[in-house]
Amino acid sequence: MSRILKHTVELSVYESIDALADSDKELMLRAKKVSKTAYAPYSQFYVGAAIRLSSNEIIAGSNQENMAYPSGMCAERVAIYYANSFHVDARIDTIAITARAKEFDVNHPIAPCGACRQAMSEYELKQKQPIRLIMTGETGEVFIAESVEMILPFMFNEIELKKK
Ligand SMILES: [Zn+2]
Repeated sequence: MSRILKHTVELSVYESIDALADSDKELMLRAKKVSKTAYAPYSQFYVGAAIRLSSNEIIAGSNQENMAYPSGMCAERVAIYYANSFHVDARIDTIAITARAKEFDVNHPIAPCGACRQAMSEYELKQKQPIRLIMTGETGEVFIAESVEMILPFMFNEIELKKK
């Protein structure tokens, strides 16, 4: 005897960043701006992430690569680790993520990698409030997820580890 578990992903789709609410557009413009600070000599893929905190303050980060490839860090985790280092009491409300590339047009929404989804999920659990995600490319549509859980079903969530 077995049963099937299904998870439905629901995203809001906007035609472009011009269709976003003003505060979301502002956050995405900050993500686009910070993508210019990316250190990405290997991938030449420049990612920006901007976080709106519950205090309304905006934190931003870009990807930082390294010639020892795994030593680099994604823009999303640069930003969320900064936020949780310097604004430990603030809740993360929304994260805007975007990217551009040297060699091709990024004309579709950019989604965070699996490791970033796991890291963001834990902060979502910690703060007991969903983190909205706004995703786009250099041009094109915008996807909004109302929580990290929405794009990371069945996350690693071993709460027993905290009890040791
Ligand atoms: Zn990542």
